Amino acid sequence: MRKSEKKLKRRQRQLSKKFVKGKKPQSNNYHKARKRLGKCHLKVSRQRKDWSIKQARCVVASNYVVVYEDLKIQNMVKNHHLAKSISDAAWYQFTQWLEYYGKIWDKAVVSVNPKFTSQDCSNCGHRVKKTLSTRTHVCPSCNAEICRDTNAARNILSRGLEIIGIEWNQGTVDAERRAEGRAFRNLLVIGNALGDNSLC
Ligand SMILES: [Zn+2]
Repeated sequence: MRKSEKKLKRRQRQLSKKFVKGKKPQSNNYHKARKRLGKCHLKVSRQRKDWSIKQARCVVASNYVVVYEDLKIQNMVKNHHLAKSISDAAWYQFTQWLEYYGKIWDKAVVSVNPKFTSQDCSNCGHRVKKTLSTRTHVCPSCNAEICRDTNAARNILSRGLEIIGIEWNQGTVDAERRAEGRAFRNLLVIGNALGDNSLC
């Protein structure tokens, strides 16, 4: 996709070079470039859609429960540090496909409130303020030291399980290991924790 984006930039440049202000109609070459740019946009959006579908399909197919954060993308795109990766990930589209596959395969797909999922300690509940650049969660209360995303993922998981009414034994080493292994950014997928070994 990055490759297509480079191409997109080039096409955009080519088009603006051919644009003559005030000229009507624009040259044939301008219109050719315009069509090329349009095709390129179409390709990028299709690639995005394709990625969302494949990932969502894989995630839902290999797990019984999928919990994700109901992120407010609009607000996050305003944060220019995050904007690129979020709109790329086509998060909303992705979650829609998660819901879709959840429905057709009868799996639990739950969205949870993202408030403080990164800040709260997944071990003891203590709130530890951190900025986006702090990548490790260090809890002064219980001395837990885990990856920021793993910590968030565990919070997301327990919120999700609370919603569907499954108790998750946080004390089990295995559950922790599995949780860590499957932390996909802030999304946590549990399959193994419920006895499924076939993971993508
Ligand atoms: Zn703690």
